[in-house]
Amino acid sequence: MLSATTHKPRTLGNHTWQNQAACHTTPGTNPETFFPEPDEMDRIRAAKTLCAQCPVRRTCLDAALENGDRDGIRGGLTEQERDALHSKLAHRVDYTRINATLAGSDVHLSRAERRAVARDAYQTGIPADHLARLLKVTVEHAKKLYRHAAREISHRNTNTNTNTTKAAKTVPITPVKTPARTDLGTAA
Ligand code: SF4
Repeated sequence: MLSATTHKPRTLGNHTWQNQAACHTTPGTNPETFFPEPDEMDRIRAAKTLCAQCPVRRTCLDAALENGDRDGIRGGLTEQERDALHSKLAHRVDYTRINATLAGSDVHLSRAERRAVARDAYQTGIPADHLARLLKVTVEHAKKLYRHAAREISHRNTNTNTNTTKAAKTVPITPVKTPARTDLGTAA
């Protein structure tokens, strides 16, 4: 979930995916199954079996992480199994989300993804007021994001140049020495 993917992100406020949820569409499903105690292995297994067949499993997991929903089984993962993913969410960089935002879709972005949108928009010359509309921030804030993007790009370029220079300096040019008969030892 935290890596790049071709999964189409849900747009914010769109809850229609829940109509396809296996836990809603499977007759006789007890909602309590999805809120087991950590040692209730039978209920955990039953919930996970249903999640494994669910056509919106990925969207369910994304929604739980983005809404900070830490209770119950979501997207086939228990509360404990989701813990680490909740902590990593701020660092998620998913280019399907970044591209969807640049194309005008209202999708959830992590902090890292918002910065990537600003960087890409800056590099492609999108005006600050357009970025403000895409990210739903003020024009002043969009300008601040552009200043940050400019610094980041300049810093990256400086580092790239420095590393290239360093690499060029450290490549040893060792002359090939043809061993003399006496360098080969007595076994030769
Ligand atoms: S993945 Fe989510 S929506 Fe699907 S069955 Fe499991 S809890 Fe329900």
